[in-house]
Amino acid sequence: MTIRLASRMQRIKPSPTLAVTARAAKLKAEGKDIIGLGAGEPDFDTPAHIAEAGIAAIRAGMTRYTNVDGTPELKDAIIAKFQRDNGLKYERNQILVSAGAKHTIFNLMQALLDDGDEVVIPAPFWVSYPDMALLAGGVPVIVSAGPEQGYKITPAQLEAAITPRTKLFILNSPSNPTGAAYTRAELAALAEVLLRHPHVVIGTDDMYEHIWWGPEPFCSLVTACPALYDRTVTINGVSKSYAMTGWRIGYCGGPAEIIKAMATIQGQSTSNPTSISQRAATVALNSDQSCVHEMNRHFKARHDWLVAALNSLPGVSCLPGFGTFYAFANVKGAMEKLGCADDNAFAEKLITDALVAVVPGSGFGAPDHMRLSFACSMETLEKAVERMRAILS
Ligand code: GLU
Repeated sequence: MTIRLASRMQRIKPSPTLAVTARAAKLKAEGKDIIGLGAGEPDFDTPAHIAEAGIAAIRAGMTRYTNVDGTPELKDAIIAKFQRDNGLKYERNQILVSAGAKHTIFNLMQALLDDGDEVVIPAPFWVSYPDMALLAGGVPVIVSAGPEQGYKITPAQLEAAITPRTKLFILNSPSNPTGAAYTRAELAALAEVLLRHPHVVIGTDDMYEHIWWGPEPFCSLVTACPALYDRTVTINGVSKSYAMTGWRIGYCGGPAEIIKAMATIQGQSTSNPTSISQRAATVALNSDQSCVHEMNRHFKARHDWLVAALNSLPGVSCLPGFGTFYAFANVKGAMEKLGCADDNAFAEKLITDALVAVVPGSGFGAPDHMRLSFACSMETLEKAVERMRAILS
């Protein structure tokens, strides 16, 4: 029998970040000494007090369904977090907890997009935004920003991208993959454009808020422009800040009507996020935050070292970021030197000849680049750079 998959499968591809991570894991299992710089996940363990909260939750029998949209105690912890960190006020009916921020964004696209609706996505973008838009019948409208503009789009570019069909604008700052972040003034300038187009909903992916070393404090879009509150969904999660990737808890705050629609989608697909993880996330958000600062200190040291090291490689240039645990390097010169036709071929050469796994820039809408995750030890980074230097010199 020939199996005919749904036509939507023609529109999307496997996640490149997950594909590289799986490939590196497979080669490692085969005994190869692979250095995996693909996975965007902290190398730290979940802080002990948070992990203990999860264990205690199991023992206390918190193992049943919860409210589809999240437990009241976690929603309250999220409300307190938004108030504390971002100066944003939400009620419980404006909060949705999902199985990771990826799931939050998926729900948002499903709840919002009709066939042909346009989603404005600045590039470089996180690999899954365009595919999620396509899955929901939307049309990704990519707005490219290269290194010459610090990988950040201008207000004029945003203005030019918005049409009567634009339904959603996705903003991710600091950015996966570049680490670039918009200043408060830059956010206000983008907001000015958005204020002229009241039909556009905004999704701000603030996942890397706490992995931050910018010259001014992190600022979310609605913090910079409260007038956008009524049509912005502010997205965050515990995966990166608290080294809780496997626990799968993401959340958002936004207009009650959109949140309700997203919860309906969730109620017809996954139901509630894991009860045990919700308890652990509550403790993560409510307890002392020094573990977050401690991990951030390490990420910053690795960032500074890696960016300098990458810039010392022939044919490689890399701008410093304001946060995240990614370095996004232009490798055009290096590609040419090795006779690689594109960044995919270059990444292939790195994994084959240098045993270093990176994610090719094309997946992020930025050919001629590679993304390296520095969520690994300094020793691992040193070894990776040494290997890259050997094949590039
Ligand atoms: N967000 C992480 C990354 O970019 C995890 C993998 C994924 O879901 O894309 O590597």
